[in-house]
Amino acid sequence: MPTTGERGHCKTPVPQKIDDFDARFQGQQAGTCCADETMPEWAGEEAQRELAPKGRFYEAHEFCNDLDISLYFHIPFCRRKCPYCHFYVVPHETKAADSLLESLHLEWDQNKHLVQGKNIVSVYFGGGTPFLIGPEAIAEILSWIPISNAEITLEANPEDVKLLAMQAFARAGINRVSLGVQSLDNPLLKVLGRHHSSQQAISAIEATFDAGISNITIDLMYEIPQQTLSSWKNTLTQLETLPITHLSLYNLTIEPQTVFYKKRSELTPLLPSSEESLAMLNLAVASLEKMGLKRYEISAFAKEGFIAQHNTGYWLGRPFLGFGPSAFSFFDGKRYRNFCDLKKYSAALKSGKSPVDFTEQLTPLASLHERLAVKLRMLDGVDRREFPIPEALYQKLQEKGWIHLDQNKARLTDQGLLFYDSVAEEIIL
Ligand code: SF4
Repeated sequence: MPTTGERGHCKTPVPQKIDDFDARFQGQQAGTCCADETMPEWAGEEAQRELAPKGRFYEAHEFCNDLDISLYFHIPFCRRKCPYCHFYVVPHETKAADSLLESLHLEWDQNKHLVQGKNIVSVYFGGGTPFLIGPEAIAEILSWIPISNAEITLEANPEDVKLLAMQAFARAGINRVSLGVQSLDNPLLKVLGRHHSSQQAISAIEATFDAGISNITIDLMYEIPQQTLSSWKNTLTQLETLPITHLSLYNLTIEPQTVFYKKRSELTPLLPSSEESLAMLNLAVASLEKMGLKRYEISAFAKEGFIAQHNTGYWLGRPFLGFGPSAFSFFDGKRYRNFCDLKKYSAALKSGKSPVDFTEQLTPLASLHERLAVKLRMLDGVDRREFPIPEALYQKLQEKGWIHLDQNKARLTDQGLLFYDSVAEEIIL
């Protein structure tokens, strides 16, 4: 569902949503480690042929205590691959879905002792399109997990969402839905190779709400080829009457190993200029705030009381366990990732082995710097006493105009928000 940003390469001074760096904190894998070199056939003719002419605001400490943990399930199935997507996804088939469910259960059994005595704050079904495995499979996974009061999110694509299906997901335990809306401009949805219309996106939001799931977040994208400021304004205006509680805003980035990358010479001249992109960002921030969606993280906006508990855990350093192919975990100071291949992932589990193929343990100092870089994404900033890095580094960031220092606090300035990738590069060892 999510697209990725391009770290360390700010073509335009716009914020990035999830890049490879962030993905390590998101329990999901931007697919560069395992993405196909070529667009697979199942991606669909259209995708291959295209391009068509693309609160109560909680205090930080409320999201993070020693007992809190989050769970992420990566369901890698999609009906077709979007031409800009570089996540690990495979075609949806019943047999593969059954096999995945079996493997997820084995992986859960290998790891369930890790959540004993913990408070599971959130469960996130991401992908891919986890909607495709259906409410029964989601209910089954949730039946393994000792949850008392958690935010439980499901990612879905607008073209799939219908009232009856969402009612079934609600009965299964889903209480938050993330919809890949991307745009409410039909020609731009075509450019992006998406298979829903703006009307379907609106209907999907309404059906989810009518099904009793009132916590609805959408993904919205700007800096799309052929996008204009007036079309962007029109998309933002249409949001005003929709019952959304949260929004993730990100700019399209053209990643290696995608169809868009192959077509980058055709696409690049069609992209909005840096000035237009910046105007789109500023317009979005102003319009969303008017709708009560307050920006609380570089790319995230929420109505009062609806900050994403799951994502906030990543930014604040809450441990999380990732399940499924390509899923990342962060636990006990270690970061590790499962095989980015469904067959290898399942084979390991079915032979009683761990599906982890990569582990990283940062030194305490590197970890401190990295946690600071990630936590700075929150607009509230950080308490510097929590991050005793050399004062000279704080001063350097201030001199560049990227952070504002106020007694014990450090937070990104407007420039810092725009050039976050550069800020992170300065901080991370
Ligand atoms: S729907 Fe699937 S292919 Fe498209 S962006 Fe989301 S994960 Fe990628």
